[in-house]
Amino acid sequence: MAQDYEKLLNRALEQVPKAVFERERFQIPEADVAVIGNRTTLRNFRSIASALNREPEHMLKYLLRELGAAGNLEGTQAIFQGRFVKSVVADRIKRYVQEFVLCRECNKPDTKLIKKERIHMLKCEACGARASVRSV
Ligand SMILES: [Zn+2]
Repeated sequence: MAQDYEKLLNRALEQVPKAVFERERFQIPEADVAVIGNRTTLRNFRSIASALNREPEHMLKYLLRELGAAGNLEGTQAIFQGRFVKSVVADRIKRYVQEFVLCRECNKPDTKLIKKERIHMLKCEACGARASVRSV
């Protein structure tokens, strides 16, 4: 049943003109941040990572370094040691998107992070552009 629905949905999506997707604005889920004691929880960490189509571990490593904090994943959440307000966390996520998600050429989010030997590249599925990115 669920599979049939997915098939139908895929077929319906195939019939939508490409331009519809291109006009759609890329949305980063809003950071759901809670500070409890000396820890900060990013409650929807995993859904942000999956919306960006990036490995949670990669994004976590980046955020920890940028926040200068220790931390870990706990289920769907990321826990940072220290107190960080929402705007700071959201800003780091935005920077991550600019550096590791958006294509340098066409600015679309349809990219993949690939590793060739020791070089990390951001490859765009939309326009084919490649750009090297630093490792985190
Ligand atoms: Zn591109």
